[in-house]
Amino acid sequence: MEKENISYIALGSNIGDRFDNLSRAGQEIIKDKNNKIENVSSIYETLPYGYKDQGNFYNAVIKIKTGYELIELLDLLKSIERGIGREKSPRWGPREIDLDILFYNDLIFSNERITIPHKEVSKRDFVLIPLCEIAPELNHPVLKQKICDICIADSEKTVIGKIQQKLTFGIKI
Ligand code: ADP
Ligand code: MG
Repeated sequence: MEKENISYIALGSNIGDRFDNLSRAGQEIIKDKNNKIENVSSIYETLPYGYKDQGNFYNAVIKIKTGYELIELLDLLKSIERGIGREKSPRWGPREIDLDILFYNDLIFSNERITIPHKEVSKRDFVLIPLCEIAPELNHPVLKQKICDICIADSEKTVIGKIQQKLTFGIKI
């Protein structure tokens, strides 16, 4: 790995075998030699956000070290999404796998393809709760607040509970 960058990625699935989809996506990310897994949250079962008429999601957040530049990482995640079989689906609609980059170092950046930090971090309890589990002290560079200080009460309530199956990707956590 040339330059080491820290990135947090949100994983979500509400079609098919949701645990398997999250697990496969994580494995695809870390089998790439430019990426190394650093931490993994629990998986949370959550009510759908946006279109309500769809199945519940499984959501989790992982922390990686990556040698990729931001757009290279986005391209990798999009190709993993395609590989796991995501059809072109409406935004906030059902999907086998959704991979969103939440943070990339303390970068603040936006173009037509990507906004970093992800602009919905503070609005989604299914992002804040797993993120708080693995990175409570992480500073949100736009809000200038630690993750644990961003008020979950102000986000939409979607989390139903934690599921027992764990993603580990072979790391000790
Ligand atoms: P969502 O994740 O909002 O439910 P999609 O996964 O369909 O919806 O994403 C739509 C587009 O959002 C992607 O094609 C991507 O170009 C863009 N995007 C903007 N910011 C990000 C980000 N931080 N991480 C991933 N995709 C992003
Ligand atoms: Mg997405």
